[in-house]
Amino acid sequence: MGLSALAASLLLAAQGTAAADAPASCAAQEDYAIIVHGGTARAGQVPEERLTFIRSMLGEMREDLREGSHAVDVAQEAIRRMEASGLFNAGRASITNAEGFVENDASIMDGRTFEAGAIASMTGLKSPITAARLVMDETRHVMMVGDRGEEAVLERGAEPAPEGWFLRARGHDEPEEHGTVGAAVLDRCGDLAAGTSTGGYDAKIPGRVGDSPVIGAGTFAKNGVMAASATGHGEYFVRFGATRSIAARMEYGGQGLEEAAEAVIAEMQAAGDGRSGRGGIVAVDAEGNFATPFSSEGMVRGYASDEEAPVAGAFGSVD
Ligand code: ASP
Repeated sequence: MGLSALAASLLLAAQGTAAADAPASCAAQEDYAIIVHGGTARAGQVPEERLTFIRSMLGEMREDLREGSHAVDVAQEAIRRMEASGLFNAGRASITNAEGFVENDASIMDGRTFEAGAIASMTGLKSPITAARLVMDETRHVMMVGDRGEEAVLERGAEPAPEGWFLRARGHDEPEEHGTVGAAVLDRCGDLAAGTSTGGYDAKIPGRVGDSPVIGAGTFAKNGVMAASATGHGEYFVRFGATRSIAARMEYGGQGLEEAAEAVIAEMQAAGDGRSGRGGIVAVDAEGNFATPFSSEGMVRGYASDEEAPVAGAFGSVD
């Protein structure tokens, strides 16, 4: 075993121990931070109520973190609320595929335990992120897909979408509507977590799966390094292993969060044809620094921390 492999296995062993020792509530440090996104944005396509919703939700999540909630629980809850709000292309207001029905993808990763859960191409779940968490907690797998996977998560406690739940199930007239959601969180234990949930692309081919449920593409979290969630042209984020690449640049290349995240976004944009390869990432590092690079016209995003009250925005600035 090489030195770096040894270091990695020692780190995982340490994380295993930390998992066993996790306190009921976090108070080891004062610092905590949460950053969320509500998808890529185009001018004129971002209702103010999305930003208002994010600011108010961040206020509550900030309070939970201050009181000692765990990063993975806060990431899940922030995403669950955005899914249920009916304001984003995730959960309730998911866009439909080319045949007019919703197919949800979601994932969550706990940087403390280095465990992850994901679901893809599921058509009848009330909360895709809750189902992803169930995969992480209740199975020995990372990803469950399609009808058979959906049966498995329903058997393990996932709630089916009630009649009339999906607001756009009969199609919609907003082409290229965006609004994937995601969160990255640092808690007062010093633990990191991230998650992502989406309805995917407008008029995607049924069965298509994007980056959002792929660990290392749409979602990644590793204690001591960073937590991140992505939005944008999923095929690129999958091929570039986008969120894992950011962490790798930090771990092995000594880059800071912002430099690493901007480099990965720029790399994908350069590989595209001008329109393709675009998107954004929200990320937080182990010290609570944020990064929000995007190559799309805009990205709906917001953040809060022990020092900063909630702010949100879609284009150049946040307030
Ligand atoms: N990344 C998502 C996907 O490719 C879409 C998005 O974030 O807008 O499914």
